[in-house]
Amino acid sequence: MPELPEVETIARGLAKRVTGDVVESVWLGQKKEPLKSPAPEIAAALEQSRIAAVRRMGKHIVFDLDRVDGLAGVERALMPAKSRKRNKKPKGSGAISALNPSTPHAEADKSVRPTQTKAQWIVHLGMTGSLRVCEPQTEVAKHTHAILKLASGREVRFVDPRRFGRLSVATSGEFDATGVEPLEIDLDPFIALFRGRKTPIKSALLNQKLLRGVGNIYADESLFRAGLRPRRRASSITRDQLAKLHAAIKEVLKEAIALGGSSISDYVGAEGEEGFFQLQHRVYGREAKPCLVCRTPIRRVVIAGRSSHYCPKCQK
Ligand SMILES: [Zn+2]
Repeated sequence: MPELPEVETIARGLAKRVTGDVVESVWLGQKKEPLKSPAPEIAAALEQSRIAAVRRMGKHIVFDLDRVDGLAGVERALMPAKSRKRNKKPKGSGAISALNPSTPHAEADKSVRPTQTKAQWIVHLGMTGSLRVCEPQTEVAKHTHAILKLASGREVRFVDPRRFGRLSVATSGEFDATGVEPLEIDLDPFIALFRGRKTPIKSALLNQKLLRGVGNIYADESLFRAGLRPRRRASSITRDQLAKLHAAIKEVLKEAIALGGSSISDYVGAEGEEGFFQLQHRVYGREAKPCLVCRTPIRRVVIAGRSSHYCPKCQK
C-alpha cells in the first residue's frame, strides 16, 4: 500500500507531467467501488477543466481544477438525455478513439453546476491503485477504472486491481482531509495530539484523525528512532520523548521522499511500472533479525490488528 512518501512522490511526478493540461473528456468504468462521487459529477467536474495543480493531502492526491470555459457545463446540461449514456469500457487501444469530446461520457443531471469555476479531483490509491500518464496508443490495462483524455494528447489512467482506491470530486468548497500534516505540524500542537490518550502510541500514530498519512511502516520506523515501544500509552510519554518522536517522524518521511524522488519516472511512466526505492527499514519487517544498533532480535507484536516491530532493548 502506498504510504505518505510514495503518495508525495506520485503527486510530484503527476504535477510535473500534467499541470496546465486540459481534460477534454473522461471515461469511467462500470465498477461502482472506485467511485466515491457519482460518475456524472466526476465527469462534469473534470471535463473542460484545466489542471492548475496536483498535490498531496495526507494520502490523497488532489488535482486542483479550473474551468476553461464557463459554458461547457451549460452545454452539457442542455444535451438531450439520449446522448448522455455512459460508454462501455474500451477493450483495447483501438477503443480509445471512442473518447470523443463531442460525446459526453456520463449522464448529466441536476447535480451539474454550470456556474462552477473551481473543483478538485481527489484520488486515493487504496492498496493497489495507480495513476499512469500514457500515450493514447498504450494498451488499456486490465482493471482500468478511469481515463482522462488530455488536450496534449496524453491520457491519465486510474488502474486498480483490488478496487480499494477511491475517486471523488469536491465541487463546493475545498476538500479537507482529516488530521494534520505530519511534515507541517509544530511541536506544541504535536504534543497536544496525544494528551490524555490512553491508546498505545502506535495506534495514535495510525489514527488519521490526528495525523494524516502516517502508515504502519513509518510509524514503526519513527518509534524505533525515538526509542519508544509501540505499546506505550500515548499519555504516558514525556514531553522530551514526544519531541524526539516529532523529529523522528519528519526525518523518516523526508528520507523516504528523497529516495522516492529518484524512482519517480518509473512509477508514473507509460507502462506504469512500480519502482520505489524502499527506505532501509530498521525494524519494520525484520522480526527475529538482529537490531542494527544492539543486535537484540527484533520483536513483532500485533496492535489493533496491525503488525508492530520494535527492539526490546533500544525502545522503552
Ligand atoms: Zn536495539
